[in-house]
Amino acid sequence: MVEKSINVSRAMPKQLTLAPRLVKITPRSGISIRRTLPHRNIRTIGAWCFVDHYGPTDQVHAMSVAAHPHSGLQTVTWLFSGEIEHRDSLGSIQLIKAGELNLMTSGFGIAHSELSIDQNIELHGVQLWVALPDGDRNIAPSFAHHADLPVFDFDQITIRLMIGAFLGHQSSAQTFSPLVGAELFFREKSDLYFPLESDFEYGLLIDTGSVEINGFKVEEGSLHYISNGSSKVRLSATKSSRVILLGGEPFEEEIVMWWNFIGRSHEEIVEMRAAWENHSNRFAPVVDRLEKRIPAPVMPNVRLTSRSNRTR
Ligand code: MN
Repeated sequence: MVEKSINVSRAMPKQLTLAPRLVKITPRSGISIRRTLPHRNIRTIGAWCFVDHYGPTDQVHAMSVAAHPHSGLQTVTWLFSGEIEHRDSLGSIQLIKAGELNLMTSGFGIAHSELSIDQNIELHGVQLWVALPDGDRNIAPSFAHHADLPVFDFDQITIRLMIGAFLGHQSSAQTFSPLVGAELFFREKSDLYFPLESDFEYGLLIDTGSVEINGFKVEEGSLHYISNGSSKVRLSATKSSRVILLGGEPFEEEIVMWWNFIGRSHEEIVEMRAAWENHSNRFAPVVDRLEKRIPAPVMPNVRLTSRSNRTR
């Protein structure tokens, strides 16, 4: 019997470069944030759902974000330079420095504040959010600081692994869906193939340097999206380039994101907002030097709806 040949036309992975938009996080915090996620075409990359990139700035009090709530997500704080003090409603007080990870799992609800510590070191870093899957999003809140993350080399790249596993290394940070997050620093000018998990989709945020991804020049501050189905990516970068790599299995749940909350419906967001505004015990008080809390914005006149990636 002649085996029928099947013409498997494997679709090429989709790629898209997302340019940042400038936002101010709060009126009290002067620095501009470059936000690349969520984007109108790409809402999530794996469970990564929010990418803010800021600095370097030598501004005094660059980061001064008073107490505010979170529900349904993890916040990931990662610095290239500078120092930030984190305080939260669990009583955590944690100074974070470059190369360390602050991972706050809001679960049902937590409140925190962030204050940059001015030490004549420029503040420069990223703030990322990870959506929690439905089965975990109402767990008790927790906070973890990781100062002992894996650091290893791949070719001319030094990799700092924040979250997930890569090349036999494993971060101790707790995850709730298949996910990776890493800082890539190019010690030398490079042109190489970098391994990817083909089940994962990826975003590569260019912090510093002249970088080409699969032949596309990606500007500093932009996030280059690659859909799942790739087992490698070609990276060409000048010496001292720095890239944040985010990846994960496509997050199929329909989420509703508004302000600092991730829910599944308009009604849930209304509830979360009311809990913060009414000082309910869903969000315990934060004791800090700022002694302020950020009021929730007014909700829009339309019902909030979930959005999914348009490329899928
Ligand atoms: Mn926050």
